[in-house]
Amino acid sequence: MSVSDGDARRTALQAHEDRVLMKHGAGGRAMRRLIEETLAAGFADMAVDGIGLSAFDDGAAIRVGDQWLVVTTDSHVVKPVFFPGGDIGRLSVAGTVNDLAMMGATEPLGLTCAVILEEGYLRSDLEKVHRSMLEAALEAGAPIVTGDTKVMGRGEIDGIVLNTTGVAMTRHVVSDAGLRPGDRIILTGTVGDHGIALMAARRGFGLDADLRSDVAPLNSLIRAAMAAAAGGITAMKDPTRGGVASALHEMAQKAGVGILVREELVPIRDVVRATAEILGLDPLHIANEGKAVIGVAAESADAVLAALRAHPLGADAAIVGECVTEHPRKVVLDTGFGRRLLAEPEGEPLPRIC
Ligand code: MG
Repeated sequence: MSVSDGDARRTALQAHEDRVLMKHGAGGRAMRRLIEETLAAGFADMAVDGIGLSAFDDGAAIRVGDQWLVVTTDSHVVKPVFFPGGDIGRLSVAGTVNDLAMMGATEPLGLTCAVILEEGYLRSDLEKVHRSMLEAALEAGAPIVTGDTKVMGRGEIDGIVLNTTGVAMTRHVVSDAGLRPGDRIILTGTVGDHGIALMAARRGFGLDADLRSDVAPLNSLIRAAMAAAAGGITAMKDPTRGGVASALHEMAQKAGVGILVREELVPIRDVVRATAEILGLDPLHIANEGKAVIGVAAESADAVLAALRAHPLGADAAIVGECVTEHPRKVVLDTGFGRRLLAEPEGEPLPRIC
């Protein structure tokens, strides 16, 4: 390598570090670092009576009297906008309703919706997106109560971007950091469906293969689980970007416990497993939009599982593992043949998944 080659490479690396890259939106360590170093700086130190920005939870919980006001916000840039099993409209309502539910707030008071459109966007597509939002909002009992609309020039944005914010009150706030040794880990259903369906749609295959996103508002499911748990739920998280692997790692790290997962108990649809294999992806690393990871005290686990399975969105729910004192902050996969560390993904391997 000549001196000028070296200089060019250093300049390129420098430029790389000066710019935001796709990995910074992938929901993993790179995104977290960017947020900590820039967007959250200062705000994370400001006093909040409850769960604030520094917790990096699904939303914030602010104490109001003897209750908690839960607030969460989410932007949606999914590509394609219409995909098997849903579209950006359903996703934008379900995503925000689910982040509220993951904090124990299953009765949304209202959502906001900000829409940014590209000049030339088809009105008929906008009407389809609106219909999906309305259907999902009715399903979740989550009215959209205010919003904002902006239009940008052709090429200045890719079609449509939606942002939704949700607010809800709860008496029992649940964080994603509360796991304790002995707690059972429950998955509310099959993993990888959303990301694999999107990837297959982008590649133009699997369209007849029953690959569908699982995108759904989970608040009624979580309400049933919380009622059955009688206070026994210790942590919840929706395994979106980075999939179940990311969610488990975050929960293990925040709580300082180890998590042991029995691979054979993880529900995965055959078509998802097969398609993931073709794509070279691990379903445990792939985004879900209608599933929850629930940590529950051992004595409440069977009751929660029964309540989940009695709900149409929880028919495939399973207890897949438990929290242990060994290997704190790590996730160990028992494959049936042996045990190995489950790798912590850098983030979602597929861009623009939600
Ligand atoms: Mg979340």
